[in-house]
Amino acid sequence: MKREIKKTQFIKGIGVTPAIIIGKAYLLDRGKIEAPARVIPEPQILQEVARFREAVEESKKQLRLAKEKLLHEDVAGPTYILDVHLLLLEDKNLIENTEKTIKQSWINAEWALKINLERVRKVFNNIDDEYLKSRKTDIDYIGERILRNLMGKDKETISQIKEEVIIVAHDLSPADTAQMAKDKVTAFVTDMGGKTSHTAIMARSLEIPAVVGSETATHHINTGDTLIVDGLTGVVVVNPSPEIIQEYKERQRARQKMERELFQYRDLPAETLDGYRVKVLANIELVEEIPSVLQHGAEGIGLYRTEYLYLNRKDLPSEEDHFQAYKKVVEATHPHSAVIRTLDIGGDKFMSHMDLAEEMNPAMGLRAVRFSLKEVDIFKVQLRAILRSSAYGKVKLMVPMISGATEIREVKKILTEVRLSLTAEGIPFDPQMEIGIMIEVPSAVTIADILAKEVDFFSVGTNDLIQYSLAIDRVNESVTHLYEPLHPAILRLVKEVVKAAHGAGIKVAMCGEMAGEPLYVPILLGLELDELSMNVLSIFRVKKILRAYTLRECKSLVNASLNLSTPEEIEELVYASLRIKFPEEFREKYNSRVAVQ
Ligand code: PEP
Ligand code: MG
Repeated sequence: MKREIKKTQFIKGIGVTPAIIIGKAYLLDRGKIEAPARVIPEPQILQEVARFREAVEESKKQLRLAKEKLLHEDVAGPTYILDVHLLLLEDKNLIENTEKTIKQSWINAEWALKINLERVRKVFNNIDDEYLKSRKTDIDYIGERILRNLMGKDKETISQIKEEVIIVAHDLSPADTAQMAKDKVTAFVTDMGGKTSHTAIMARSLEIPAVVGSETATHHINTGDTLIVDGLTGVVVVNPSPEIIQEYKERQRARQKMERELFQYRDLPAETLDGYRVKVLANIELVEEIPSVLQHGAEGIGLYRTEYLYLNRKDLPSEEDHFQAYKKVVEATHPHSAVIRTLDIGGDKFMSHMDLAEEMNPAMGLRAVRFSLKEVDIFKVQLRAILRSSAYGKVKLMVPMISGATEIREVKKILTEVRLSLTAEGIPFDPQMEIGIMIEVPSAVTIADILAKEVDFFSVGTNDLIQYSLAIDRVNESVTHLYEPLHPAILRLVKEVVKAAHGAGIKVAMCGEMAGEPLYVPILLGLELDELSMNVLSIFRVKKILRAYTLRECKSLVNASLNLSTPEEIEELVYASLRIKFPEEFREKYNSRVAVQ
């Protein structure tokens, strides 16, 4: 039910790109469309098949156009997602079988497509490989595109929008998002999606302010409504009063001013007032993010999530594909180091919330190192490429989801085999390449002292560590409020990890989202982490905060926090401290988990 009276409403979602945009809403019809079911008389069957082929061709044309547009606008990074969709439009299982169904069952193209989409979805559900399974969302996107073309429903395209608007939609495909690049769309809001959904990744790459996962935005917003979209906090204000607009305009100005001021931190060392030096590094997913890493003055790459390499193709990436990507990253990062993480497929990767409902326990399934140790041949291809890239700069190899010493020993054994074969082939690599593990499973914390003897460094993956230790599904909207990085249990766990690492004389980094959140900086310093790796957009802000503290102050904050009982109490304590140092920035509270992405 739409509202009649324009009263102010606040909607909370997940902020994707940190900026405040004020504008008019444009409600885009991107809800699920119903496929009509009709029986087709035999003489018209071939015509129906032709109609289907035309719709597929039209879909390809639209995607190619969207891709060209991106290339033209010089934002080539996320085109790989469109490539995946184009490849799926060639998929025999879907396209040829739909044609067969039309011919054999004498039914209309929409109905035949629906039947075959369902079949493909089922096949995907039954696949053991979490990565392939996660392609289901892509199948849905292209299925809907063909359906819209069949039904003449794709008339309402984003590129036809004439004035500046904020798009509001139930869900947007990455292709829809791609069309927005430098267009009339100033921001978007969707009901669906999470921080790691393709659409969010695309929005971040294109720097389009957005709020995803709002659940009900399309129920409350009408075309023409005035909206404030805060991509930092994830708040959407519908029909704000003049006072609220004024307030947000001030915030907008303040944030823009702050962004300009923050730039000075680019070349300043990440050092506390009493000279405690930490390294501030960048997390990346795509090679195309490198220029931004350099612009933000990161001291290397603390996490390169390689799973995105597996996206832009139908088959598995070859050793050469891996190598070319790693070499680019390693050379560009030189003289700093690049931490390349081995495949961490599965879990929430590439899955929308909808998909998860159909999974049994994806987060605890065959993901990350478990997958690599089962599919050793696939793993070796990646290890060879990582080792080869180590001849071109400083590479560190990192293994995700280690839960015990056996796993890392097995990895090292395979790595030795790979090293031997490279040596036998006369292929150069760095024999000193460091090997590290992510600490993101509670068991790894408990035996951190044992694991520290096996590796050269640790990196705490708080996204998963919090998920597993607090039993909070990291992508489930209904438990988001319980996802508490400042939970006393988490602080104790991190403290244990640091103690074990330093006891064994190895360095410990943090590369989960927690590391890039300004609010947590004093605590992370007090916990004596050596390196913080984060989204590049957080770097200046984190440096600004850590340069305003002494290590002593941070340590006493940690000690005081560890005597408190709840995350709320700890948060209040840290806020109070930050408010004293930065009265302007920490005047108000915001949802810390989504604040800086
Ligand atoms: C983490 O779990 O904190 C992490 C950095 O890895 P990912 O988010 O890729 O699982
Ligand atoms: Mg993880």
